Amino acid sequence: MILTDEPLLRAPHLHLGGTWVRASGGGAREIRNPADGEVIAVVDEADPDDVARAIAAARAAFDAGDWPATPVAERAALLVRIAELLEAHRDDIARIETLDTGKTLRESHIDLDDVIAVFRYYAHLVAVDADRLVDTGDPAVLSRVVHEPVGVCALIAPWNYPLLQMSWKIAPALAAGCTVVAKPSEVTPLSTIALVRLIDRAGAPPGVVNLVQGAGAVAGAALTGSPDVDLISFTGGAATGADIARRAATHLTRVALELGGKNPHLVFADAERDSAVDAVLTGVFLHSGQVCSAGTRLIVQDRVADEFVAALADRAARIRVGPGTDPSSRTGPLVSEEHRAKVEAYVALGIAEGATLITGGKRPDDPRLAAGSYYLPTIFDHCHRGMRIVQEETFGPILTVERFGTEAEAIALGNDTAYGLAAGVRTADPARGERVVRALRHGTVWLNDFGCYTPAAEWGGFGRSGTGRELGPGGLAEYRETKHIWHNTAPAVGGWFD
Ligand code: NDP
Repeated sequence: MILTDEPLLRAPHLHLGGTWVRASGGGAREIRNPADGEVIAVVDEADPDDVARAIAAARAAFDAGDWPATPVAERAALLVRIAELLEAHRDDIARIETLDTGKTLRESHIDLDDVIAVFRYYAHLVAVDADRLVDTGDPAVLSRVVHEPVGVCALIAPWNYPLLQMSWKIAPALAAGCTVVAKPSEVTPLSTIALVRLIDRAGAPPGVVNLVQGAGAVAGAALTGSPDVDLISFTGGAATGADIARRAATHLTRVALELGGKNPHLVFADAERDSAVDAVLTGVFLHSGQVCSAGTRLIVQDRVADEFVAALADRAARIRVGPGTDPSSRTGPLVSEEHRAKVEAYVALGIAEGATLITGGKRPDDPRLAAGSYYLPTIFDHCHRGMRIVQEETFGPILTVERFGTEAEAIALGNDTAYGLAAGVRTADPARGERVVRALRHGTVWLNDFGCYTPAAEWGGFGRSGTGRELGPGGLAEYRETKHIWHNTAPAVGGWFD
């Protein structure tokens, strides 16, 4: 188990002002492995008083501590040390992520590599992203635009990519000189505990990174309702995001929201078939569809649609569903029984709405999987934009299929969503590809690829997929105030008023 000198499962799980403590009210929650329902940890659960103490610690570290004014090179060095410690504990933390979320070990290892890359990226960016001199035309005036940290940041992450999403927030926040209170999902807290342990070990000053655990409605609400928080960075569902934005408005607290998606994947008839089938399959069924950018809406040109959907169904039926720790599994269980019930309700809705179920639509028959929250890859054909199954985020292994005739129809369907997080386009015609990607109203658009990203490019959504951006320079800007300093080096009487 990770950090064997400090057993993860037994130690206190709240980190307040540099000290690991138990929840003051004695609250705790059982964490279950979705692959078999077994309890894998009992984690302390903060009450509002604990959250207030965490915010006070972050406030003190920001208002009276050294961190906001620590030279950029030292902040960057801390991020590099965190990356090195993550590398040293990569396998342990990947295993924890798999036990907690159900995803395959292969996916968890990829997540860990991406997490390490994001700490390294922001260590580099903050070191080179210097302040700016402005030429006012007056040689006596020294005019500079400088970056300063926003302040105390509340960081709230979801359960599907617990460590990755939290790292997209913590790395730029630390790089900018902010102090933070992090709250992972109550369902998947373990990898974030491990990360904060490593941040502590890397030498973050007390109070700079605080950690609370607990339910969104309790710990999350206390965090986002506080007037002492300067920025809330939230990743999660649209309804929760709207709720947080309303609460933040009371104190005019800044918010950055990374919300859900209902992401179209447009396949033109000229696209190379095998690679397109493969991309659509991976784009929707990876991590059993529990991905904000999953390509859940296949929009395929009518003259190849029947053949394409048949090939897709054949491959979907052969996806090996099983425990994430089994190397032969290609996708794991859903995160919980409760979440599987939501996915099952969407499948029932699709059938009731008249979509044609062509594969999946049920739990696996294998009795060895009976104790886990597994669900088979599911495809609905003959769907249309009026169906809720086409418009709402199901967050499970469900693909809907719509057909189009012309390029204009494909674009109209691709933009016919309240969300706007991500979209994919497959075509052999580069000119058409460029036209279509420019016409789609989504934060990320992949042309002849799907699901890829890099720490250096911004990530975020149009429409109801959120506000603000993570990753890239834009992701650092979220955690910075911009100040213009006008320094007159030769003050003289202006003489405006006689
Ligand atoms: P939720 O919105 O339910 O929860 C997200 C986080 O917010 C959790 O930590 C949750 O805590 C917390 N929370 C819940 N209620 C409140 C509240 N009232 N006040 C403050 N915090 C609260 O989303 P899920 O965890 O179910 O995650 C899935 C969603 O996240 C999907 O919609 C998905 O698309 C989106 N997502 C978006 C991404 C993006 O980059 N745009 C990336 C990944 C996911 P708890 O779990 O403890 O209740």
